[in-house]
Amino acid sequence: MKVSVDRSLCYGSAECAHRAPDVFAFEDGYGVVRPGREEAADDPRVLEAVEKCPSQAIALR
Ligand code: SF4
Repeated sequence: MKVSVDRSLCYGSAECAHRAPDVFAFEDGYGVVRPGREEAADDPRVLEAVEKCPSQAIALR
């Protein structure tokens, strides 16, 4: 599975970047998946970030 952030939904709370800073970054007011870290979807912190994102902007596919 791959993790991605839908920028159109992101509130910019930065919670994902605090929860899993090696997977997510906070850039220009939005959460982003760090390049090359899209495959980290099985990381428990990524799953937690998906659950806790206040705008449900993080997707696993
Ligand atoms: S936790 Fe969700 S709303 Fe907050 S920055 Fe990350 S993707 Fe955006």
